[in-house]
Amino acid sequence: EEEETLRPLDASKLTITRSEKNSKLPEDLKFVWGATFTDHMLIIHHSPTEGWLDPQIVPYGPLQLDPASACLHYAPALFEGMKAYRSAQPGAKPLLFRPDMNMARMKRSAARVRLPDFDGEELIKLIKKLIEVDQHMIPPPPYALYIRPTMIGTRPTLGVAPSSHAMIYVILSPVGPFFPTKPAAPAPALPIPNGESIAYTNGSSAEPTTSSEITYSAQFSPIALLATTSATRSWPGGVGEFKLAGNYAPCFAPQQKALAKGYQQNLWCLEGRISEAGQMNMFCVFKRGEGEVEVTTPRLDGTILPGVTRDSVLALLRAHAANASGTDKLEAIPADWKITVSERDIDLSELVTEARAGNLLEVFGTGTAAILCPVNRIGLEDGSDDLMMPSFSGGLGPVARGVYEKISSIQQGDIPGHQWTVEC
Ligand code: PMP
Repeated sequence: EEEETLRPLDASKLTITRSEKNSKLPEDLKFVWGATFTDHMLIIHHSPTEGWLDPQIVPYGPLQLDPASACLHYAPALFEGMKAYRSAQPGAKPLLFRPDMNMARMKRSAARVRLPDFDGEELIKLIKKLIEVDQHMIPPPPYALYIRPTMIGTRPTLGVAPSSHAMIYVILSPVGPFFPTKPAAPAPALPIPNGESIAYTNGSSAEPTTSSEITYSAQFSPIALLATTSATRSWPGGVGEFKLAGNYAPCFAPQQKALAKGYQQNLWCLEGRISEAGQMNMFCVFKRGEGEVEVTTPRLDGTILPGVTRDSVLALLRAHAANASGTDKLEAIPADWKITVSERDIDLSELVTEARAGNLLEVFGTGTAAILCPVNRIGLEDGSDDLMMPSFSGGLGPVARGVYEKISSIQQGDIPGHQWTVEC
């Protein structure tokens, strides 16, 4: 009953304190992914007795946290990832892509770790205000402003219990369009915990890097995945379907192992099935018969993060499959391909068999950061030969290219009034 009297999140109570800084985008648009931030951030505190306090936009800077804060010990902590694009249409406001999906997922994540609920539409209003304040920091497309809504439990006691002291904050980071291409030699060596070190090879690599010499490639650089069965990102009854901070750090050691072996990401496997590719959902394109092609991704069984990009890619492919001659056509997909789209279990053994038989036409990951990332090689922990996918000029096969061209044109506002885009 006490909940009834708590104040709801209310965007109309926003106060804005301007930063004295007046940062500008670098002219060369060279960014280390997620390392450049705008001058302002949004902060909203939740108190167990009052509810959501007045939202504030304040200068970007350190947070003050009690060292006993729950998030620092038991990880009631979660986040979202979204992008704002500067619309190519003259005079148009910045565009968000399906922000309601991110808010719904954020609320589900919060409920799972018993952080307070909030009104997602109010948070979208506040995110729009924050973007308005820092809108000169949105680079032109295909660059974008990455948006990182974060929620942490700040209960200042060591008791292992839910935290109704909480904070939502949102920070903004201008980012490049695709995964970075590593600089030419000499590449930096990264230390890994067992004392070995790895040097990046020239060319493609998909992990965020500490190098400041990063450039963004207009081409897609395919990545290699290590099919990982010795460690898992998620498990039945676990929390893989939520975007909890605690899901990520346990992946670092297996990822560094994969890196040390020359793969950029893990292909997470679970009970013999493939799950996700690093921090991306995973799509496979199988040749099924003469002119028949199946595009498939693991079904949402509770162990898979329900990606906004995944959902969008499935919708675009289904619309193409249903109406391949109309406006829903994905241009890069050959007109005589009969496409079926499925969400199902995909056994690693199926992937191996089909790849060795030459029937695995394309593999790609999907996620907000890269939108779409092609895979051209998959390693197996049993030491047998890597699975090789066909290579394509520009890095994308026809299905990936068809989907990428459509989704990026929607996100960048080239299809004005599209139901998935929301003006700030
Ligand atoms: N899987 C994981 C584990 C992720 O962290 C992400 C990034 N949010 C995705 C998939 C892709 O989700 P989205 O398309 O919503 O960015």
